[in-house]
Amino acid sequence: MKNTTVPINILLIIFIAMLSFFTCSKHVEQNIDYPHMRVICTEDIELMDSTEAKLSIIRPLSFGSGQPWVSYPNRQGFEDAIKQAKKLTDKGHKKGYTYISYISKTISGGPTPEELPLVKVYEEGRWNEYEDYFGPEPPESPLEWIEKRADGSLGGYTWVSPSGVAGFHSFACANNPHFKRYMKGVVKALVDMGIDGFYMDHTEGKGCYCQYCNKAFHKFVKEEYPANFVSEKYGLNNVDAV
Ligand SMILES: [Zn+2]
Repeated sequence: MKNTTVPINILLIIFIAMLSFFTCSKHVEQNIDYPHMRVICTEDIELMDSTEAKLSIIRPLSFGSGQPWVSYPNRQGFEDAIKQAKKLTDKGHKKGYTYISYISKTISGGPTPEELPLVKVYEEGRWNEYEDYFGPEPPESPLEWIEKRADGSLGGYTWVSPSGVAGFHSFACANNPHFKRYMKGVVKALVDMGIDGFYMDHTEGKGCYCQYCNKAFHKFVKEEYPANFVSEKYGLNNVDAV
């Protein structure tokens, strides 16, 4: 005879799913129809009013790269931009609007890597002006945060537009502790701007062979693979040499 009894583990999964649904649904604002919410990319509240948009994606303190120091390399400009954004989000929040900010894992500007605003602030000894946001001056230049190629050279590329504008574009290493500390400061700035959330672009990167990635890779291989894996597969006695 065919057994039609539902396994206990399936019942448990259904119960947990239902419990999660009813628990989470308590926190959803019932007056917002999220699946049909109109999204716009503007800092113009009147435009939001006229289009009945409820959520705006705005850029943080810079325009184009999503990084605070690209357009505001001095403390006063940085603070003015935060205040200006806070004024906007306060006004929008009173109307029930939500603000999401774009940020990115890319390090861009230039046109050469040495001319990146973030690098110039570091090289000119001005890092400590921003210590309350980005932490103490790191031991290495932000140039070192850029992904490294297998031969140890700097990742990224330079570009020139048809109109002759040149720039440098690169991806930061997600394992670099100083870059991660810097990004905490970026998020702190967003909080001060009254932003409700953020979208982080370019989390993928192009692959990195820096000291932090190499160390993490060696740790991963040692923990996840048998001790003789590297010697059998690659003929090497030492994982750290890979
Ligand atoms: Zn790396």
